[in-house]
Amino acid sequence: MNIPAQSPESSPESLPETAASRIRIVLVGTQHPGNIGAAARALKTMGLSKLVLVAPEQYPADEAFRRAAGADDLLASARVVATLAEAVADCRFVLGCTARSRRVALEELHPRVAGDRVVEIARRDETALVFGRERTGLSNEELQLCHASVHIPANPEYSSLNLAAAVQVLTYEVRVALLAAGEAAPAAVEESHETPANHAQLEGFFAQLGETLDDIDFHKGRAPESAMRKLRRLFLRSNLNEQEVRLLRGILADAQRMARLAGEKPR
Ligand code: SAH
Repeated sequence: MNIPAQSPESSPESLPETAASRIRIVLVGTQHPGNIGAAARALKTMGLSKLVLVAPEQYPADEAFRRAAGADDLLASARVVATLAEAVADCRFVLGCTARSRRVALEELHPRVAGDRVVEIARRDETALVFGRERTGLSNEELQLCHASVHIPANPEYSSLNLAAAVQVLTYEVRVALLAAGEAAPAAVEESHETPANHAQLEGFFAQLGETLDDIDFHKGRAPESAMRKLRRLFLRSNLNEQEVRLLRGILADAQRMARLAGEKPR
């Protein structure tokens, strides 16, 4: 992965704060409002401030504010949205936090590696850590929206932490990485003028890729999901920029046009 260059206006001292402002914690479908409050408190203790709630079951709720203790400011400014796609549309890196290994073919990162990766990308771009429901975690469809997953290597026989406890552990790892980034000399990084593709642009590309594979009859009766999962993994790993997404979509558009023409040819 390219290491994004520091923007010229940010001094090394301000790096941890500016990177922290580009890291959001997303809670999906939270069932107990107390966990939302406790998560807000966890964020604030670790110097983070952006909380996004995706379709919480009971919210706003007094219990959330009680459990937030001194972090009610952060809770009050939490954004509430209807879908995970909406919560992460402008993110360049989305990390799904899972209590168990899942069938979805995603790169699984150790929490320490995940913290470093998030902070490295948040030097310049928006990032998200996504947490699932207390009872069922994240759905496979939601995990498909993530670029990688992270699992706290807990007791394998009892690996599911309380939601707010998991938020605390992973935001701590982010803080350790932020502090290390602040102390380190400004990274000797290559200046890049390319804008990385955001989530919405990648999803637009994947939708067109799916249509094109149908148009050219790539699947030949096989279920399309398995090929799409592998292709998503391939393209998410390759860190595409906006120009590359435009190029790929241009190729797909031509393939779709040729498929239409071939369908129209007299036999
Ligand atoms: N019963 C659910 C567990 C949900 S716990 C399941 O089996 O998936 C609620 C959320 O806390 C999870 O979706 C995940 O985001 C986070 N979490 C809990 N334990 C975790 C662990 N060991 N590693 C990473 N995230 C964890």
